[in-house]
Formats: sequence, C-alpha cells, structure tokens
Amino acid sequence: MAEATIIDGRALAAKVKDILAVRVEGLKDRGKCVRLDAVLVGGDQGAHLYADNQEKACNAVGIEYNLHELPDSATQKDVMATIDELNGNPMVTAIMVHMPLPEQVDADAIQTMIDVDKDVEGVNPANIGNIVFGRRSLVPCTALAVMEMIESTGIEIRGKQAVCVGASTIVGKPVAVLLMQAEATVISTNEHTPNQETLTRNADILVTAAGVPNLVTADIVQEGAVVIDVGINRIVGEDGKKCTVGDVDFEAVKKVAGFISPVPGGVGPMTVAMLLRNTVQAAE
Ligand code: NAD
Repeated sequence: MAEATIIDGRALAAKVKDILAVRVEGLKDRGKCVRLDAVLVGGDQGAHLYADNQEKACNAVGIEYNLHELPDSATQKDVMATIDELNGNPMVTAIMVHMPLPEQVDADAIQTMIDVDKDVEGVNPANIGNIVFGRRSLVPCTALAVMEMIESTGIEIRGKQAVCVGASTIVGKPVAVLLMQAEATVISTNEHTPNQETLTRNADILVTAAGVPNLVTADIVQEGAVVIDVGINRIVGEDGKKCTVGDVDFEAVKKVAGFISPVPGGVGPMTVAMLLRNTVQAAE
C-alpha cells in the first residue's frame, strides 16, 4: 500500500495567510484598523519568544500587534482592569491572553470576561457554547485548524466514523462538536477509556490531542484513515537531543494511514493561521 499523503500545515497556513493579507488590505481601504491586543502576565523567556513570533505572524499579513505586559505580581484586579479597558476600547477588535497566568489569577474568570466579539482564541464559554448551537462564533483556533486540515484532504466528513482522543475544553471537546456539526459519527475518548484501540481501529478520521508520545501506533489505526496529530511533546530523541513529537508514531502510522499531519509542521502552524483568521473575522 502507498504511504499516506502528508497534510502540510506550513503550506496550508501560507495559503490562508495570503488570503488574509488581501482581506486586511480591504479593511484598511475602508478605514478599519485590524489589530490584535495580547495580554502577557509575567512569563518566562519562552512566553516572550512566543509573543515575539506572534507579532511577526500578525505583521506579515498587515495586522497591528499590541502586547500589554503585566508583572508576575499582578493581581486578579489588575488583569481584570486591563481586559476591561481593552473590551471598552472601540479601536481594539481582537483580544487574547497568554497562558499560563500566575497562580493568584483565576484564568477561567479572565477568559469569561473577554468580550465575546473580540475573543479570537474562542476561550469565552459563550463562544464555545455557540459552537454547540451551530451559531456563527469565534471558534478555538486549534479546533479550527484540525477541521481545516481534515477538509484539505477532500474527503467527505458526513457519514464518517471519527474518534477524538483527548477531551480538553480547548481542543478535544470543540473538535468533537465541530465533527458532529459536519455530521460525522463521533466518539470522544479520554485517559479512562477502556480498550481505546478497538475504537480507533474503526476510525475513518482519527484526531489525537492527548499529549502522550507514541500513543497512536500503526496497529491501532484503520488503513486509509485521516490522522490529525495535535499533540506537542518534548522528548529526548534517539540521538540524545531534545526534540518535539506528537502523539502519533509518525513513521509507522504513515505506512497505514491515507492522510497524516506531522509534528512539527502540522497543526501548530495552522493554529497560528486560524488565530490570524479569527482576528480578521473579528475586525470585519
Ligand atoms: P489536556 O491535558 O488539557 O487534555 C488532555 C486530554 O487527553 C484529557 O482529556 C485526557 O483525559 C486525555 N488523555 C490523556 N492521556 C490519554 C490517553 N492515554 N488516552 C486517551 N486520552 C488521554 O491537554 P490539551 O490542552 O488538550 O493538549 C493536548 C495536547 O495537544 C498537548 O500535547 C498540547 O501540547 C497539544 N496542543 C497543541 C496545540 C497546537 O496548536 N498544535 C494547541 C493546544 C494543545
């Protein structure tokens, strides 16, 4: 059997960004500003590097990026005051808050506070709820990325058996709901699911977001399946160096699957592209 077609997240993201650059131009021509306001509380070097990369990604498509930095010692009140100000500023059309927040700050309360129409990460429970109702909303970026990648294969989702491994609020659950909206038959599994392999072996579409390296091996994947790997795991590779892998045993599974997304270069870059797309949608 031929090897799986690789779903190239970087190439798909580049196409999305080209289209976004045109949409941003159009908005600017009509005198609309397109900007993303990000809040970073404390944060290590990694968080700052992430914010720098986000700024570059925004600027590349013409989106203005404003980073609002608060010290590690910031209180709940301080962070709430920042969100309040951004919610009330008509020039601000998109807000995101970098995670994790320091332990004295209640992340759920902060996310719930973000104006629903500016919540470009789709973390406000109202936006997640709107997905269930099938209403237009700002959908969590990683879940959107997963759907775009499945759709890029050209397979019809309707009527397919889909298994979502991992059921977090920000990834696994929204992916399962979006697949239900697309009329797949959906099974959601978690770390307590017994005999998970009997379910994955019947999956035409297999999405894994568990954060467990090598969880999905070739023997538990149906021949020809679409396999989307959301996992990001830092491990020590065979050469003794640190590397990033997903949840899927990529080399073995690509010999069985019909389509497969790699890590890195799969869901990650598409997630960034979806954040930009949500930012443009919010401005529009
Ligand atoms: P989480 O820890 O909040 O949730 C993990 C889920 O996986 C839980 O439902 C848990 O029950 C389930 N799980 C754990 N072990 C399992 C097992 N052995 N079998 C079946 N289910 C199992 O994690 P999260 O925030 O959803 O992230 C999941 C993974 O996706 C992580 O590796 C994370 O780094 C990655 N991630 C990637 C992106 C991206 O843009 N590519 C975005 C978000 C998260």
